[in-house]
Amino acid sequence: MRQSEILAKITEILVEAGVEASPENYEICHRFITRSDLEVCSLFDKELAQSKAIDSGAFQRIAEAAAAARGKDLAHHMKNMDEQIAALIGAATTAAGDAASYSASLKTGATNLGALDTGSDAAVIIAELISQTRLMSERTASLEESLATAGSELSALRSDLEKAKTEGATDALTALPNRRSFDEMLANAIAEAEAAGQPLSLAFGDVDHFKKFNDTWGHKLGDEVLRYVAGTLTKHYGSLGHPARFGGEEFVVLLPQRSMAEAEKMAQRFCERLSSRALKTRNDGKEVGKITMSLGVATLQPGEAASAFIERADEAMYAAKKAGRNRVVCASA
Ligand code: GH3
Ligand code: MG
Ligand code: MG
Repeated sequence: MRQSEILAKITEILVEAGVEASPENYEICHRFITRSDLEVCSLFDKELAQSKAIDSGAFQRIAEAAAAARGKDLAHHMKNMDEQIAALIGAATTAAGDAASYSASLKTGATNLGALDTGSDAAVIIAELISQTRLMSERTASLEESLATAGSELSALRSDLEKAKTEGATDALTALPNRRSFDEMLANAIAEAEAAGQPLSLAFGDVDHFKKFNDTWGHKLGDEVLRYVAGTLTKHYGSLGHPARFGGEEFVVLLPQRSMAEAEKMAQRFCERLSSRALKTRNDGKEVGKITMSLGVATLQPGEAASAFIERADEAMYAAKKAGRNRVVCASA
């Protein structure tokens, strides 16, 4: 296909879907038009089979599924690497064991041969054999040592990798899952909810008047408040919800298998719990007052893209702000 033709087709898709001509969106279209990515092609084909044109909703679904597939790909590579490292450590340990027993039997053989003193040509040959055998034995011992070192280095590498994986998914301030990790959790939760035909709800919360809090009490105390809010969310939802830091003073809670009514009740109780305690500074016990949060709750609609789902919960949160803050508003469908 000619370059100008590729460009024209990409433009056509972007314009028809009415989506931004961002590098990411352009890339997805490019992968489809040039058929260089089978995963993306099958996503487009599936959407096209359902309706003739790709609208913005369909485009979003494709983009999110493609991003999720890439994430899974990475996870798959990491798992493969982990398995290979484990196999290598196993092989190194076995080889080290084999080398050790070979070295031991060579040593015994060499000692026995050394005891024979015939004074003939055979003695020279035997002496040479003994020296070669000792050399071999030394080399085997050093190989065994390097294999053991390589094995422990690989183990350390594997635990570093594990640590990097956790750190990359965690928000440093609150220790909650970060935005990236939330996006991944949400994509998985949507797929699971759709496959099982079960509801999935989302609470989107934003701390009220937090700018004023920072201005009055300072950023450091503001940070402590964010940690306090994160801790309260974790305690409140327990095993029923998965809180994450969405960004700044915004938090999200993923609620698998929860209906709108259940999610609303849980969020209302959270509001009551958070606002029931007046906070004091740790060092001089000064009253800093109540911390409140406004929350929007949404329940996933059939075929809804993750971004549209978040947007509805976010809009409901803004409605809660408008209605006076420190309250919960349910998203409209
Ligand atoms: P509203 O009730 O309408 O949400 O008002 P608000 O003041 O909370 O909202 P606004 O968006 O105006 O301000 C958010 C503030 O949150 C501004 C920013 O400095 C603060 N913030 C965001 N992230 C952090 C953080 O990590 N630590 C601290 N201390 N403050 C943060
Ligand atoms: Mg905000
Ligand atoms: Mg706020």
